[in-house]
Amino acid sequence: MIVISNPNEMRDWCKQKRDSIGFVPTMGSLHEGHLALIRQARKENTYVVVSIYVNPTQFGPHEDFESYPRVPERDCELISDVVDVVFLPTDSCMYPLGKNTHELIENKLSNKLCGASRPGHFDGVLKIVLKLLQIIPADKLYMGLKDFQQQLLISRMIEEFYLPVRMIACPTVREPSGLALSSRNQYLSYEEQQIAPLLYKTIVSFPELFKIKGCDQTCRELTTTLEKEGFQVDYLQILDQTTLDEAETLNENTRIFVAARLGSTRLIDNYGVYDA
Ligand code: AMP
Repeated sequence: MIVISNPNEMRDWCKQKRDSIGFVPTMGSLHEGHLALIRQARKENTYVVVSIYVNPTQFGPHEDFESYPRVPERDCELISDVVDVVFLPTDSCMYPLGKNTHELIENKLSNKLCGASRPGHFDGVLKIVLKLLQIIPADKLYMGLKDFQQQLLISRMIEEFYLPVRMIACPTVREPSGLALSSRNQYLSYEEQQIAPLLYKTIVSFPELFKIKGCDQTCRELTTTLEKEGFQVDYLQILDQTTLDEAETLNENTRIFVAARLGSTRLIDNYGVYDA
């Protein structure tokens, strides 16, 4: 495995390769969720590139950009046997002209869910992924369904701009308790760790309740359940997973989306009718 920090060097490396490249973008502090994406990329491609970059433009002014866990040496060691290249750029490489010189704004899906509670978040995500795909012209891009809206927005960007890469959306990796793995789980105190699995346990019950009580009442009841357990619910919505419009009926596209805080840690999760 080699580590490359310079974008031009990274692009030259990719250009020399004749066989397929799988690319896994991450913000580091790698866990089993990331490793599942990397293993799948390994199976399906001749070469695997992983980027590790905590992208400043996707964090709001009062979010955890400064405190986001950064352990690049440990990360590189963890994946050295499975990955060909780790791309580890600096801010000045990724934003050579400054952070706000160009904007990439999506107007249909990015203002809902996490985009509503984190204004500008997805503009930053789309911008960095577009940059990374120019530097790493991969055949396949591996992203997790844990960040469902992110994966959906990037799939749409690929379609809209005819980007020559195929999205491979990978299932959410969970703790045995059901808690979705996340680099932010390490912020949780011992007490919060006992409560956190209730997020997933609560949302998986939505289809049964939806059949009896419909969308609005189900959302209200599940929100109340979570708040009684100590979560501060940012949003809990049942939507059509292709349009992110409110679900009117229960069908194969119906998915529940939740973001909730436990103390200062913001957790997100989602569950579709056919995920079980
Ligand atoms: P992050 O480092 O949090 O930006 O995540 C990098 C990639 O890993 C994204 O495509 C995430 O959706 C994916 N990912 C993060 N956590 C998980 C998980 N628990 N299961 C599957 N994929 C994940």
